Formats: sequence, structure tokens, C-alpha cells
Amino acid sequence: MKTCTKCGNQKLFSQFNKRKASVDGLQPICNLCSKTRLKLNYSKKMDSIDGHIEMILAKIKKRAKDNNLNFNLTVAYLKSIIVITCPILNVELTWCKKSGKPTNDSPSLDRFKPKLGYVEGNVGWMSFRANRLKNDSSVEEIEKLLNWMKSFA
Ligand SMILES: [Zn+2]
Repeated sequence: MKTCTKCGNQKLFSQFNKRKASVDGLQPICNLCSKTRLKLNYSKKMDSIDGHIEMILAKIKKRAKDNNLNFNLTVAYLKSIIVITCPILNVELTWCKKSGKPTNDSPSLDRFKPKLGYVEGNVGWMSFRANRLKNDSSVEEIEKLLNWMKSFA
């Protein structure tokens, strides 16, 4: 058993996440407290546009690194190019929404030319749905897809 430093309850070792830096190899606070703290931090961040952009930027930075893409974006830059409605689908974007998963109207950062990476001048905001539809498609592919869909419309 181990006592959580946050809620003070005695809990099984299995109720604590691992942490290499600790003497006992476990987090000082229990999983339940840790989850609550994460949620609280998330909700606090989502109180402001800056916080929301910060969260998105952190994800993008990781994606850029994982995929070996160029990256030079900042919160200030992403804020300077902010839009209220999706330039493609014209739906209002929901900034600072406090629920977990992105929805169709969540803001999403598009790379105009995917290969150029996340660099200033090559990115713009659009809705999550528009970005998902675009994905990494080329103009030719979208044209072919469109023609296919039109043949059944
Ligand atoms: Zn606890």
C-alpha cells in the first residue's frame, strides 16, 4: 500500500502510475488524482484562445517531429492568422470548447502543401471536418473522387 500525497488515501501500488525518477518507481499521487489534475489543467488551458492554440501547437510539434516535417510555428503566429469560420465549409469554428475529442467544427490547422511542413505561410485554420476530408489528398485525387461521387449523385 502507498499513501497518495494529494488525497491522502491509502491505495494499492497498482493505483499509481510508474515514474522512474521516484525512489519507489511510482508517482506520488494516485491515478485518480492524476486524472483529475489533467482534466483541471486542460479545462484551465481551454479558458483562453492562447491556451487552446498552445494545446494544438504542442500536438502539431510532436506530429512534425514524428513525421520529420519542418516546423517553425509559434502561438503568436497562429493567433495572428486565426479565423472565426471555416474558409471551406463556412461553419463557425468552436474555439475553447471544453470537451475532449475534436468535433466537425473544431479548429484544425491545414498545411497548404503537406510536404512543406508546419511553417509560417504554409498553414491555415479550417474546420476539423474540412481538414479530414482534405487529408493529404492531391488536387488530382480530389478531382477523381469528386467525379466518382458525382456519377452517383
Ligand atoms: Zn489520490
